Amino acid sequence: MSSDEGQLTNLYDLSRAQLAERLAAWGFSDYYAGLVWSGLYRDLVAAPADMVGLRPELGRQLAAETTIDHLAIRSSIDSVDGHTRKYLLGLRDGAAIETVLMYFRGRATACVSTQVGCAMGCVFCATGQMGFRRHLSPGEIVAQIIHVQRVLRQRGEQLRNIVLMGMGEPLHNYDATMAALDTIMDHRGLAIAPRFITCLLYTSWPGASDCWACWWRLWRLWAQCSAAVGSRATLSQSPGRWTPRPRPSSIPCRPCPRPRRRFYRPPRPRPRRPPTRPC
Ligand code: SF4
Repeated sequence: MSSDEGQLTNLYDLSRAQLAERLAAWGFSDYYAGLVWSGLYRDLVAAPADMVGLRPELGRQLAAETTIDHLAIRSSIDSVDGHTRKYLLGLRDGAAIETVLMYFRGRATACVSTQVGCAMGCVFCATGQMGFRRHLSPGEIVAQIIHVQRVLRQRGEQLRNIVLMGMGEPLHNYDATMAALDTIMDHRGLAIAPRFITCLLYTSWPGASDCWACWWRLWRLWAQCSAAVGSRATLSQSPGRWTPRPRPSSIPCRPCPRPRRRFYRPPRPRPRRPPTRPC
């Protein structure tokens, strides 16, 4: 993901390996990649110049070729009991996403978005009614966590739980979601344990897609964190009323290694012939 000028790389978009690769190309060892990574996700620095321990040449190179994207707060609203704050965060292209911070003692939770809008179109959901605008990049998903972590740090608290339950369907933006999860769970950075991450998926699984590749993705997501599938089960008992009926095109299979394939259906039992009478 690049900035408006299409020149600068957002550091939040890079995985730990990609960052090390980039620095190696500039002639810096993995030790410096560790410093930059720790500055980004432990110290939560706002600019490359704020990172400590970097050689001046590396600082100049980072400032010239990279950026750290921040999400501007457009508005925020508190719940009546004061335990929840919802942020409307602005992206570089002018779009806005919602991120929610829930203050529970010892288990502060962030609810983050994975898309601008949503293609699923659940009728009870305002995001579903606004339609799909675009996918978020891994860096834009991670930046929401950084924003929440900064707010909590000012209060002397620490983020514990993450739910991918904001705007968008995580499976629809699978690649960026998985890349963001890798960054969020990295033990040298934010170090959020997988068991504290919950990913809420579109209610019609299985059924929204009958593709093996999607099942493989779902399984990987499940292995990575707790994927809450079909958690709106009570609503899904009346499909079509609350959620759109499963359509093969609901979740595009991208990139799908195999052609779409129907699930195995057992053959119907053949009618038994009446026993033949002996002559
Ligand atoms: S999948 Fe989630 S975000 Fe998308 S329309 Fe349904 S409830 Fe809203």
